[in-house]
Amino acid sequence: MKAEDSSQAKRSGQRNRPDPAVTKALRRAYLLLRKQQGHQQWWPGETRFEVCVGAILTQNTSWKNVERAIANLKHASALEPERLSRLPRSELCELIRPAGYFNVKADRLRSFLQMLNRDFNGDIDAMLAGPTATVRERLLSISGIGPETADSMLLYAGHHHSFVIDAYTKRIFTRHGWCHPNADYETLQRLCEQSLSQKSGAKQLDYWQDYHAQLVVVGKDYCRPKQPLCEQCPLSSLLP
Ligand code: SF4
Repeated sequence: MKAEDSSQAKRSGQRNRPDPAVTKALRRAYLLLRKQQGHQQWWPGETRFEVCVGAILTQNTSWKNVERAIANLKHASALEPERLSRLPRSELCELIRPAGYFNVKADRLRSFLQMLNRDFNGDIDAMLAGPTATVRERLLSISGIGPETADSMLLYAGHHHSFVIDAYTKRIFTRHGWCHPNADYETLQRLCEQSLSQKSGAKQLDYWQDYHAQLVVVGKDYCRPKQPLCEQCPLSSLLP
């Protein structure tokens, strides 16, 4: 299998189609994961707004910590755009403290809310509506929202076809030889979106939502930074 060299591709301006062997392996990987792990029913969140808040809070922390912060917000009846916007910063920091980096995340939440209120009158559906590229640019223009957070909001809250890449994805793909170790976010996203586009509509959306969720489970449970548990991993048959 030939891993794509992102810098080379960028320099030459080429957007090569993925190696068919990689495409085949990526599609096979999902079948193996789905069989062993079942559908993951992601993203955990009762509303689109809650998904967006969770996407910001989960930066650099585990979902367990996010759950505690979300529970605090719910308990304070603050998991709603207007109420969250009215919360004094100090109170917001206290409520989201379990998610870590609470000062930074409070500012990011407030930046998100500022756009939501200023440009969309608090309407999260309107904020996430429009062509995927336009909404993505919109989200990326908010301070502290990078590609992974924006794509999580797009895919799980906005139901846009935008594949989410994270550190787990890169580690798994690199270890299997599906990407170059230096591949950047856009290269990996393009690889996934081109390789995993055999469905359409709602089925495609569910496929991409669940695919990312499956990789997160593998990354957490098996593909550790050191001493990966390959023998127990559902993807072991796909190792080079
Ligand atoms: S734990 Fe091993 S088999 Fe599983 S994804 Fe990582 S490298 Fe592959």
